[in-house]
Amino acid sequence: MFHAKLYINGEWLDGASGEKQNRSNPANLYETIGEYTLATKEEAELAITAAKAASKAWRSLSGTSRGEVLFRAAQQLENEIADIANIVCREMGKPVGEAIAEVKRGVALLRYYAGEGMRALGETYPASDGKSLLYTNRVPLGVIGAITPWNFPVAIPIWKIAPALIYGNAVVWKPADPASITAFRLMQVLEKAGFPKGVINMVTGKGSIVGQTIISHPLVDGITFTGSNEVGKLVARAAVERGAKYQLEMGGKNPTIVAADADLEKASALTLSAAMRSAGQKCTATSRVIVEQSVLESFTALLLQKAKEIRLSDPLEPDCYLGPVVNENQQRSILAAIEQGVRDGARLLIGGKAPEGSLSNGCFIEPTIFDRVHPRSELAQHEIFGPVLSIIPADDLEQALEIANDVEFGLSASIFTKDIDRMFTFLNRIEAGLIKINGETAGVEPHAPFGGMKRSSSHSREQGRAAIEFFTALQTISIST
Ligand code: NAP
Repeated sequence: MFHAKLYINGEWLDGASGEKQNRSNPANLYETIGEYTLATKEEAELAITAAKAASKAWRSLSGTSRGEVLFRAAQQLENEIADIANIVCREMGKPVGEAIAEVKRGVALLRYYAGEGMRALGETYPASDGKSLLYTNRVPLGVIGAITPWNFPVAIPIWKIAPALIYGNAVVWKPADPASITAFRLMQVLEKAGFPKGVINMVTGKGSIVGQTIISHPLVDGITFTGSNEVGKLVARAAVERGAKYQLEMGGKNPTIVAADADLEKASALTLSAAMRSAGQKCTATSRVIVEQSVLESFTALLLQKAKEIRLSDPLEPDCYLGPVVNENQQRSILAAIEQGVRDGARLLIGGKAPEGSLSNGCFIEPTIFDRVHPRSELAQHEIFGPVLSIIPADDLEQALEIANDVEFGLSASIFTKDIDRMFTFLNRIEAGLIKINGETAGVEPHAPFGGMKRSSSHSREQGRAAIEFFTALQTISIST
């Protein structure tokens, strides 16, 4: 049983209000895995002031020195991959294989950004008088508020915290409520790297209190947010009001197109994986598969045959493919979306309900597939964030592309085809930030830029070298004698 505390100015605090919240295992709600602390507004402010004070010395260290601390953090996390993955499974229900992969990704991100500290950050320009030095320099923003979601409770915090730190900022991190115990454990590991006190602070608590304090506080110079569009709008508004920099990564309604010439075996396996892995709780999950009429019947048969083989199981089982969703609220909201789909006339091919028997103590939902889904119906337009896939027929690629783009989101998209013309038509027309050809909609390797278009993103990029744009300010300097 964990007793998760706040981490502010290098100290573990119990929380002044004494308010605690219990966390149950979504695979078995009778198992309490721990309690965590609900911070007050004053504690969030304390973390911000501590970060501000610490940022002065941290920014004046060389990038190489900051990188050394990040390298140590990577090493510490690598030592505890199994433990951290275990808590990810038990707190949010991610299958253990995926949880281990996520923690490994966290290690890779820390190493990558540790290395970034050694790069020259600016450029030189020819000065027209021929004797001045004209160059650019990157400087930290100051204090970064990192507000993170629960669905990647290790990788997403690290892909925000690591670049913020390496470029010389101090951080106040507000993890999502359903990932509070994982956040506590991750912070315990990162602490061992020896960051100076106040450089990184972790404050659990309610979004409406802790999150709201961070986004509206005058000492927070930049806010990096990943989560829903609803909260993203609040973040943007608060940041614009006081002139702070902000970065938003939000929802998706990701399409996969199956063209008439596709390898249907591969397309059905990867579409199912993209829809059902992490119980569909990935911003990049495939939620719409748009299939050319001529292969609709054979593709659907293959998809169903594979879906029938999926066995729901405890996420700690080594071969778990589909575990529970994160909590009862999420389970209720997914089941409501399924019922709405049925009311709107879509045909339920498989799943659509919570399982009975031993798994009924947890937040499980059977893998669910609809066909005859209208492209403008709620099922096809709204993010469900669960193991639910909609099959939408299209006459040809032209119509498939229209359907694919006819949503407010633009995060990830893919096509299955062997035809080069179709590939380029797709690449030229698809409105998405992360594009796959003959692959599943998903994120990308840690050193490549990540982000969406349209309402999925505020259009700056996370991961890789692109992250420098958000986490620094550019100065142009001219030195003359
Ligand atoms: P969420 O409800 O928007 O919460 C995100 C974060 O915002 C949480 O830490 C939350 O805290 C906090 N928050 C809530 N109200 C706030 C406020 N008034 N001010 C400041 N912060 C506030 O999203 P979620 O349910 O955690 O995550 C699922 C969503 O994230 C999905 O829409 C998914 O598509 C999106 N997502 C996008 C990406 C991407 O890269 N595009 C990646 C992963 C997830 P509490 O938890 O305490 O409410």
